[in-house]
Amino acid sequence: MIALRCPYCQSEQLVKYGMTPNGKQRYRCRTCGRQHRENPGSNAYSDAEREIVLRAYQERSSLRGLSRTFGVSRNTVNAWLKKKP
Ligand SMILES: [Zn+2]
Repeated sequence: MIALRCPYCQSEQLVKYGMTPNGKQRYRCRTCGRQHRENPGSNAYSDAEREIVLRAYQERSSLRGLSRTFGVSRNTVNAWLKKKP
């Protein structure tokens, strides 16, 4: 399971807070009290999360499958792949 962080304060004290209209999990941060959606942007991913996704990519070689499994956009994964040494 990927640990999620609050994009505002980086806290991991998140509680589920309903769903967005497009079916994404919504979270509320217990530390700062703000709400946010799952995966709001590429900078919301920790190094560990990025490693998990990139490893899955190497095993499956399907960006579409990754998008479905992790909710990561193909553009995000492509950007990570370019950054990788
Ligand atoms: Zn927070």
